[in-house]
Amino acid sequence: MTTRVTFGECPVCRQGTLEAARLPNAGVLVVVCDDCESQWRHPGEATGGDTVIREEYARLVPADAEEVAAAGWPEGTVVDTP
Ligand SMILES: [Zn+2]
Repeated sequence: MTTRVTFGECPVCRQGTLEAARLPNAGVLVVVCDDCESQWRHPGEATGGDTVIREEYARLVPADAEEVAAAGWPEGTVVDTP
């Protein structure tokens, strides 16, 4: 089972869900859309396409609630997926 921390609807494609992710072996957290893969540095910045970051981090893994809290992010919604 995988736990994902989500932050609502993607403001770019309006179909995907924003979720917390991190780089493997790094403490860098980003918010990523599970559909169009737009990425932001913080859920508070995920307001539209003009704030999307350009690094396009690949190989992201889901961040859990503990990591989200450690980053000082808002709680989000925890979703368990099989
Ligand atoms: Zn999207």
